[in-house]
Amino acid sequence: NVADGQNNDRKQGKLDANISHEESDAALKKYEKGLDVWVQDDTLVWVQATVVGTMKDGRIIVRVGPGQDSVVWVKGDYPQLCGENNFVDTEDLTRLNPLTEPAVLHCIHERYKQGEYYTTAGITLVAVNPFSTVPSLYSQAKIQLYSSALPQDIKDLPPHVFAVAQQAFGNLSRGLGSQAIIVSGESGAGKTWTARCLMRYLATTSAGKRLPGQRTPTSIVKIEKRILDSNPILEAFGNAGTVRNHNSSRFGKFIQLQFNRSCHLVGASIQTYLLEKTRVVHQAQRERNYHIFYQLYHGISDEERELLGLGGGEEEEEEEYQFEWLPTDDSQNDSDEDWSSFAITRQAMTSLGIGKCQQQEIFMLLSAILHLGNIVFNSEAHDDGCPCTIEEDSQRCQRSLRTVCSLLGVDEDALGRCLTYRRITAAPGRRKSVFMKPCKPAECLARRDCLAKLLYARLFDWIVDIINKNICGEQVEWKSFIGLLDVYGFESFPDNSLEQLCINYANEKLQQHFVHHFLRAQQEEYEEEMIPWNYCQFVDNRDCLELIEGKISVFALVNEECRLNRPSDSLQLADRIHSTLGASRHISRRKSIQGQAAFTVHHYADRVSYQLDGFVEKNKDAVPEELMELISQSGNKFVSSLVGGMAVTEDPSTKKGRTARTVVSKFKASLDKLMQTLESTSPHYIRCIKPNIQSRPGVFDRKHVESQLQACGVLETVNISRLSYPCRLAYPAFLERYGIIMRTAADQATSSRSSVSSLSSLSDENLDTENMDPQEILLRRNLAAGGTPGTPGKRRRRRTA
Ligand code: ATP
Ligand code: MG
Repeated sequence: NVADGQNNDRKQGKLDANISHEESDAALKKYEKGLDVWVQDDTLVWVQATVVGTMKDGRIIVRVGPGQDSVVWVKGDYPQLCGENNFVDTEDLTRLNPLTEPAVLHCIHERYKQGEYYTTAGITLVAVNPFSTVPSLYSQAKIQLYSSALPQDIKDLPPHVFAVAQQAFGNLSRGLGSQAIIVSGESGAGKTWTARCLMRYLATTSAGKRLPGQRTPTSIVKIEKRILDSNPILEAFGNAGTVRNHNSSRFGKFIQLQFNRSCHLVGASIQTYLLEKTRVVHQAQRERNYHIFYQLYHGISDEERELLGLGGGEEEEEEEYQFEWLPTDDSQNDSDEDWSSFAITRQAMTSLGIGKCQQQEIFMLLSAILHLGNIVFNSEAHDDGCPCTIEEDSQRCQRSLRTVCSLLGVDEDALGRCLTYRRITAAPGRRKSVFMKPCKPAECLARRDCLAKLLYARLFDWIVDIINKNICGEQVEWKSFIGLLDVYGFESFPDNSLEQLCINYANEKLQQHFVHHFLRAQQEEYEEEMIPWNYCQFVDNRDCLELIEGKISVFALVNEECRLNRPSDSLQLADRIHSTLGASRHISRRKSIQGQAAFTVHHYADRVSYQLDGFVEKNKDAVPEELMELISQSGNKFVSSLVGGMAVTEDPSTKKGRTARTVVSKFKASLDKLMQTLESTSPHYIRCIKPNIQSRPGVFDRKHVESQLQACGVLETVNISRLSYPCRLAYPAFLERYGIIMRTAADQATSSRSSVSSLSSLSDENLDTENMDPQEILLRRNLAAGGTPGTPGKRRRRRTA
């Protein structure tokens, strides 16, 4: 670390503890004077330095700073070697030589400074969010550039999302089967933006595939438009302003773009994952509810406003039309934008076959949900020992109650009773008895919230269904597809719960898919080059996945808790988790976080502690039957149809030993299906990076970027590459650089491959050390020992192009 003496002394302890004297002596030897290195830094992560010398006590003296004017003693973690082209930026990170973490960070940063936001990292594309519109980056000319490139030339074009899309499309056109583009990254990194760019590109390119003069059937044009129109609708209903992203997707999405034999986009299907329902009834500070609520509130005409019970805009009424579930935050609220977005959403709905009447029904439901949030309960009554009731003294509450009932088509008394009484079914002996028990105020609120979440989640599913029905091609058979996956990135907050476990589990699954694919790709390359391959075991995260989803796993234990249906005790559950799974190296005992039961999972990206409070209830996601019945009996057909399906699926005959499908079971099943689909494709990966947490253009926070490179697997890719062969040079390029090592000109005259082969068998005595620069000798010795030019090699390796 570049740090003061005190800090260095602390680090020294770590060095002594981890490394024996012989090891440290051997390690120090490579830090010869004049060597360029990267040393760790608290804010910049890595800074460039030059070795001045080494000390017997294990310290390395380096010069850092712009003019190399500051001398620093480095202890602890050894500096990383720069190698010869580390200060050169490159479009492809795997060309860095040697390929190290500091080099990767440096390269991405340098490119960012030059306005280059895309960089290739082997089989992945790293996309840094510019947080400003760069029109030239996505112009029609750019689309033309990539779509007209020959397959063999795409790799020579600058890295770009269009290059990835074109590669996928090119493979598809050449009959290489279905493709998938997996877009990942943390919230605000640009996944949805990227997925939108990919969709546009693919729609445009597939349209361009028509021969000049050939007319596109109107049905295909319509489908293309509808597919693109699905974006604003899904974003209106599934995205919200959060502290991390003003347009954050609160659900995962996999869209399959389907192509016919002539590679025309003829249809699509969308699968969504795990919508964040809680947001409808609870918005954290400085966060918003789903966009559609604001769009509706600001976008409808006065006439509609009255019809939907959203107020007529008269001042004395204003207070009554303020909604608890529509929080306003000055930094995010823009009623003009909501107004114009509403017009776009409506237009998109029309294009997707959601007619005016159905739109009206949707808006009525949304308004009912908003009004539900204004219904409150009389806690005084409960304090006096009477059953809780809906607050009668608040005009706003009473008006909302009336509005909810009229919009949902339910009876006021029936709704009131459902929210304030709980049905208890007791079966003493053979005779079943049913009675109603008054709820406490907190329970009444929970039932109200449950109803709102149920309605919104059902509406969301209904919308996805309608979209799917309208974007699948009519009678046109599709042959292959390009799948676009836009799912939430790895999450680790101070408080993590079941939602984060599911999200991180999804990321583990994708990481496993990536690693397998990546290793497979490498394996194929090595087989082609006839190079031995034996280091798969280093990178498998199967054990961690087994810990989460296996037969005896966290999911299994939490499901078991739901099945037993006993009052949940999170401390006991924590004990059960630790006693059953504690042997795994991927879990550690974190008995409590601020007094709450917890456990820590060692994910591939980071360690995350999950609090168990509320885990079991969230996993059950139970809806009281009384609420389901109330809604299914609604006089409003649209509303009753939303829950109709569920009421039917609850088969009373299986009720006794029924294992209701829990959140994690459903999520696991949907992910397994997704993985199967991905397995049938050739995958392409885009890792989106958020350069700073303030979402500002021109700011590159190296620490934040480094942690994302870690979490989204770029450094993992780099590490795998380092475990294998970090340098990939074409034979002629290799000979041009290192050919002078060869003693005789005759050696160089043979074919480039055989020359490289004889070079690789060079030993130290072949080196002409007398006339060489010490740095050059070091490089050559390393090379002869099988290492990279900058890294002393431990294993003997054959060099490859
Ligand atoms: P979340 O996980 O929260 O949904 P996300 O990764 O999908 O986040 P986006 O919504 O795609 O993030 O991007 C966040 C914002 O960053 C966008 O609204 C847009 O303003 C900006 N942005 C992203 N990518 C680009 C880009 N390539 N050019 C310009 N702006 C961009
Ligand atoms: Mg998004």
